[in-house]
Amino acid sequence: MLTVLSQLEIEIVSERTKFGLTGAIKNGHIPGKCPLGYKRDETKKMIIDEITKDIVVRIFNMYLEGKSYQTIANILNEEKITSPTNKKWRDVAVAKIINNKIYVGDFERYKSTQERESIVYMNVVEPIITRAMFEDVQAQKEKNQRAFCRDRVYLFMQKLLCPKCGKIMTCKGSGGKKKKYMYYHCDDCKIYYREDKVEEAIMPIIMNFIEYDMTVKNYFYPVLADKKEKDTKKLDKEISLLENKKNRIKEAYLQGIVEVGDFSKDYKMIDEKLGILEQKRLEVIDTNKQTFSPQALMADRDVAKEKLIRSNQFKNMLMAEWESKTKEEKQEFISKFIESITLAKDEKGYFDLVNLKFRSSYIEQVSKLMDNGMFDVEIPCTKGKEETTVTSTVLMDKKELKEYMDRLNDYYEVSYYELRRLDEPKKGYQRKYFTIDLVNDNGEKLFKLV
Ligand SMILES: [Zn+2]
Repeated sequence: MLTVLSQLEIEIVSERTKFGLTGAIKNGHIPGKCPLGYKRDETKKMIIDEITKDIVVRIFNMYLEGKSYQTIANILNEEKITSPTNKKWRDVAVAKIINNKIYVGDFERYKSTQERESIVYMNVVEPIITRAMFEDVQAQKEKNQRAFCRDRVYLFMQKLLCPKCGKIMTCKGSGGKKKKYMYYHCDDCKIYYREDKVEEAIMPIIMNFIEYDMTVKNYFYPVLADKKEKDTKKLDKEISLLENKKNRIKEAYLQGIVEVGDFSKDYKMIDEKLGILEQKRLEVIDTNKQTFSPQALMADRDVAKEKLIRSNQFKNMLMAEWESKTKEEKQEFISKFIESITLAKDEKGYFDLVNLKFRSSYIEQVSKLMDNGMFDVEIPCTKGKEETTVTSTVLMDKKELKEYMDRLNDYYEVSYYELRRLDEPKKGYQRKYFTIDLVNDNGEKLFKLV
């Protein structure tokens, strides 16, 4: 009788906690241990821990570069980064982070330890990484399940797809004592590509990425940075909390409540955390300093670029940037942008680009820039018989255009001309194209299409 009763009681209690739990979760009161990157506030709500958040972002980035759980664990151990368990980092600890949906803001609760079935509560905490990045990670996981190219650094590790069967091409070094070449191959289709040839073939694409990357670093970062990252309020609060804690410990020590050993250990730890937060605060203030207009930033970038083009230094500068990277850095760089690439060889042995898939996180950035009318594309055109390209900006409205022109006028004399839309050609007729002179009758040089 007693057992039945208690059983009943247990069920009712667990029903009740379940019910209460759902509501609690929706309010950010996530049960269980706080994962790395998060901490609990005064009300036990799970919030971002500014001190450890960056470690999480870094782990995701390393994984997307193709590094294994174990490699990531080794790197973190080497750098003496504290693990969530305060022990050495192990592959399972890294895997747990990579697979935890909490980092995009969702809490996944398994119904029981035996069942695989789970409930997902969406957007219950503030995310640390974007959904686009998490999507990239899922794609990466499939690739990582088959261990590829672990013997040394290959530029296009897990990126090249076989043009015939679509499988990931594996990498191989060859040559023994002879000059060593690195290869990508498909066993089934007997296709071999030399790495240096592949690199040569996609160099124009890499140059575009280099330009994009430098532009973001030097000019566009404020546009892409999250709004919450531009706010120092949260950091200020954490700093003052820690400072209070520091004072309390000092007081306790002075009153003889704590031993000197414990005191200096705690004191040092708090000081280190404060150091990290204060550094972050400085960085935030730095990005806020320039009250920026996206169009002014773009104009500055375009002028700097134009100067380099006029002195024929533009391509050299990009090339130098690429060449200054180590092989490992090159591989990491490529993996930031490219999800997969398919090349086919023609009869003459030249590579044709069949397909190129970008990483979702890169696409997300680009669409953010497009929303601000800041994304340029090169439109192919002909100049006499020569093929060339014209830089064009997409999605810029009148107001943005004015801001852009005003800023450009600080450097160059610029004017703008409206193009008249040609009527759609009738069926059966060849489509008419615009003809624009790169230099017009007034001696003005075409700068950009908008
Ligand atoms: Zn194949």
